Amino acid sequence: MTGRLPAELQEKLSLRLRYYEDIGIREFFRDRIGPAQLEQLEDVVPQTQLTMTSGGAEKLNETPAPRSLITAIPKIGEGTLQTIREDIGDCIRCKLHKGRTKIVFGDGHPQAKLLFIGEGPGRDEDLQGLPFVGRAGKLLTQMIEAMGLRRSDVYICNVVKCRPPENRAPEKDEVAACSPFLFRQIDLVAPKVIVCLGSIAAQTILETTRGISQFRGQWLEFRGRKLMATYHPAYLLRNPAAKSEVWKDLQKVMVELGLEVKKKPAQTQA
Ligand code: URA
Repeated sequence: MTGRLPAELQEKLSLRLRYYEDIGIREFFRDRIGPAQLEQLEDVVPQTQLTMTSGGAEKLNETPAPRSLITAIPKIGEGTLQTIREDIGDCIRCKLHKGRTKIVFGDGHPQAKLLFIGEGPGRDEDLQGLPFVGRAGKLLTQMIEAMGLRRSDVYICNVVKCRPPENRAPEKDEVAACSPFLFRQIDLVAPKVIVCLGSIAAQTILETTRGISQFRGQWLEFRGRKLMATYHPAYLLRNPAAKSEVWKDLQKVMVELGLEVKKKPAQTQA
């Protein structure tokens, strides 16, 4: 096919691509190409190989031979955080949209080495459109500063981007609708270390139903990145005695990031 696609088909295609993006499929490769495209590739593919497959003396049949991924077209780009936010749009993919004030997308350094994942926005976050700005957020900020970082050095986001009613845990369908955007955020920020705050974040990322206490504080992996699961700051507000456990986990993260590990954390007030 040559020239531009009809507008209707273009529209259908872009809707389909957007759907694939939403469910986490973002890379497409062409594995068969015709003679016209082969000519365009002559400068990057050895001539002999082209002649063999494009219908010369060596032609074995009429159908162009399948090509290896070496000659695949470049993969579709991941875009930017802004693109992801635009793809979320004025989201109605799950029932959480009904009660939200603002979508809480994420906040922080777009190329942060450290990325925190929480569960979902609470009341303050829903009103302000920013993650971790309520009481639990203040504690998280203190924890980040105790690590010798500023909040603006890290990236902070949540599993679901809209506040669940009464701060209940997000439900399976809500996590399924929203997590593709989280995965894209992680891929794009490309942090060295991911810290999951609480069981919802850890279970979503690790695709497990195991309780967080079974694997908290251990180095795990997500898509080739180091991952540490630790308790949620809201849990620490209710159980301040667990702060020392979280501090131990964060010290491991600091070592991994090459940060100076202090003996005692700065005073974190609940
Ligand atoms: N708790 C979370 O998990 N995320 C927030 O953004 C705020 C509180």
